[in-house]
Amino acid sequence: MKYLIVLGDGMADEAMETLGGKSPMQVAFTPCMDRLAREGRCGRLITVPEGFPPGSEIANLSLLGYDVSKQFEGRGSLEAASMGIDVPEGYMAARCNLICIQDGKIKNHSAGHISTSEAGELIDFLNKELGSEDLVFHTGVSYRHLLLLKGGNKELDCTPPHDVSGTAFAEVLPRAVHPRAEQTARLLRELILRSQEILPAHPVNLARKARGLDTANSIWPWSPGYRPAMLPLREKYPIRSGSVISAVDLIKGTGVYAGLEPIEVPGATGLYDTNYEGKAQAAIDELKKKDFVFLHVEASDEASHEGNVDLKIRTIEYLDQRLIRPILEEISTWDEAVTIAVLPDHPTYCRTKTHAAEAVPFLIYRSDAGSAQARPTKGPGSFFSPGTGILEPSGKLFVPDAVQVFDEFSVREGFYGTLQGEEFIRAFFGLSTKADP
Ligand SMILES: [Zn+2]
Repeated sequence: MKYLIVLGDGMADEAMETLGGKSPMQVAFTPCMDRLAREGRCGRLITVPEGFPPGSEIANLSLLGYDVSKQFEGRGSLEAASMGIDVPEGYMAARCNLICIQDGKIKNHSAGHISTSEAGELIDFLNKELGSEDLVFHTGVSYRHLLLLKGGNKELDCTPPHDVSGTAFAEVLPRAVHPRAEQTARLLRELILRSQEILPAHPVNLARKARGLDTANSIWPWSPGYRPAMLPLREKYPIRSGSVISAVDLIKGTGVYAGLEPIEVPGATGLYDTNYEGKAQAAIDELKKKDFVFLHVEASDEASHEGNVDLKIRTIEYLDQRLIRPILEEISTWDEAVTIAVLPDHPTYCRTKTHAAEAVPFLIYRSDAGSAQARPTKGPGSFFSPGTGILEPSGKLFVPDAVQVFDEFSVREGFYGTLQGEEFIRAFFGLSTKADP
């Protein structure tokens, strides 16, 4: 058995008056997902445990079966993994933005979306001026960088800079939430202030200023954490190897800690113009070599953040027609069976343009093993022979439920009910769950 998760980031939404009381998933033309729902089994999944913000990093970690309260260590450490940087034992990692401050207020969190090459020069400069063996900056992408601090304590209240544009930076400087983190908090505040003294006069910033662009005149460390203690998926589930395909560093990093190999796909942008066909082909190539592929597509989330309902519908149709369809056509010719799950990590509401913590719809489908010759190689034929069912590793028969289409509402009638924690990934890998009779 091979295993594939197709994750449509932020795909779930709510019923909208402008869509005749339907959601974008209900309106979108998605014959492939609907067929997988019809021939598979559905349910709802709580991906954001209580007390956590509905971020993609939380939801993806959670749906892969990890305990967020124990294993989420902040963005810095996740992005470090996707950058190929090992967070050493005893170090604290923090996301370190290059930001623009004007008149003492945070103008933007991105230093006007500074280029990676400009940022790289500034990060080198910061290392020379402020760095040491125990305090190292690493260049990431655009405004998103990394700070490694030996002996740092993560018990800090750090403000995400994208949440506070227009706020005086002095009001939202890092603070300790426990006295034992006071030294780290003080050091981060000093670093921010020192960076504000030395960055404005750097040639990169002088050149940006001359061109009328925002300057990167401050650093902003946040989301601190340590090296995550995540067990690779292959040590918990019946797979030996796997890959992660995503244009988003946080997801790639999560995959790396889960023991998956990150695969680069040319033209994978994280936007609606992403290379769907290339991602589908990469997933097929990886599935041939490995047991498991985690395929993440960001496009619907971005469309939702723009509040663009039409675009969101189109991204869901692209996922169905340009990504899932070619994968189904390919695996229909294979002798080995494939389990496919399709789900969003969290809903993103076009109405509010933000993520929600609501349970998400999911489907799990298993292609019938060992009868490739008997199946149609192309077109909308059924892979499933009614009445037979497929034996799962748990020893139970996998028999489809009554759900006929895939959306937020149809899955409420599904076999699995509402799952949480590790239950979804166990069901996906065919291990027993509370849903089993
Ligand atoms: Zn997301």
